[in-house]
Amino acid sequence: MSPEPMLAIEEAERILDAFPVLASSETKPLSAAQNRFLARDIVSPGDVPEFDKSAMDGYACISGDDSPSYRVIETIAAGTPPSQTITPGLCARIMTGAMLPRGADRVVMRECTEEADGVMRIIRGDPRHNIRRRGEDLRAGQAVMARGDRLVAARIAMLASLGFAEVPTARQPRVAIITTGSELVPPGAPLGPGQIYDSNSHSLVAQLRDCGCEPIVLGEVADHAETTALAIASGLKQGDALILSGGVSAGDFDYVPEAMKRAGCTLHFQKIAVQPGMPTVFASRGEQAVFGLPGNPVSTFVIFEVFIKPLLLRWLGHAYRPLVLPALLEAGYRRRRSERTLFLPAFYREGKAEILAYHGSAHLHALSRANALLRVPAGQESIPAGSMVNVRFL
Ligand code: AMP
Ligand code: MG
Repeated sequence: MSPEPMLAIEEAERILDAFPVLASSETKPLSAAQNRFLARDIVSPGDVPEFDKSAMDGYACISGDDSPSYRVIETIAAGTPPSQTITPGLCARIMTGAMLPRGADRVVMRECTEEADGVMRIIRGDPRHNIRRRGEDLRAGQAVMARGDRLVAARIAMLASLGFAEVPTARQPRVAIITTGSELVPPGAPLGPGQIYDSNSHSLVAQLRDCGCEPIVLGEVADHAETTALAIASGLKQGDALILSGGVSAGDFDYVPEAMKRAGCTLHFQKIAVQPGMPTVFASRGEQAVFGLPGNPVSTFVIFEVFIKPLLLRWLGHAYRPLVLPALLEAGYRRRRSERTLFLPAFYREGKAEILAYHGSAHLHALSRANALLRVPAGQESIPAGSMVNVRFL
């Protein structure tokens, strides 16, 4: 058997970026759209503000009018249109958000006035006009949001303010998860000798939900070629994509690549020059993407984060760019071998990064304390103390 070629990280990314994804959309009520991705651009249906309105509680009057006092002709509440026109010597008591009366072009803040017996006097200069002009925020037809934007709270507020009761969102890809390993037991069950809890099902569910996909958990599968192939076939019936963990290395019971072939998948690569996660498999069957991740929990997590998440987000119409920030690495770093790109769990705080004590790809506790990954490029053996580095936020 010939050894699998080891792809540079950029080459693996290129193959994944070229994998075609078939986006489709579904209309969702705004109340159910949180964290989904817009399926089309949104333009403003009207001007915002919709009419000239007061930005303050105060008195609407004419800016050139320097009468010693002003007769108050009406009170204008938000939601009730004014009924009279302002002329010199007159004003209207007006509330924040209320429609500006005809003739007025300024609102004097209540704090700068006093009123007695239906007459208002300006007691302190108020240099501002305190008017929000029709269309000053948005014009009808102006672009507001783009396809692929995530519907976070502020965007949901924006859409509601424009009157959208429902929005076109990208359909969430359904992603089946299979964890392979005869040693795996679901959390909650008693552990027999040599057994461990299946954490990858749970990390993958959480990561999939985080990036707007719908996980389908197929659970733990024993290390057995036929059983694994059947599980893959079942996963491909249920999901748009499939992620397996474990069973991709060179062990006697690592059946996943073979089982993928048996289930009709085409393998695109089986090895990336990355640490952790070298024996990562990317395959497909028709339009369905299939991943086999090494079972060590940090490998599964990092490979999802770096390679799978961008593909799934592209499916959702979102061009993912991880947040990367420069940071001062006070303590240096050195490694013996440098042929792979290394991702280390790191903690970023106030411009400084710390590489967390890390025992390797099984060390979930290090990952659980990290808020970022530090990428050490292939070929680089050390980072001198006091260097500026880039950290990639999780
Ligand atoms: P494998 O990739 O199957 O060779 O597994 C590598 C290591 O990861 C072994 O120590 C496994 O016991 C462990 N492992 C595999 N799958 C999981 C899982 N789902 N959750 C936690 N650890 C796992
Ligand atoms: Mg295994």
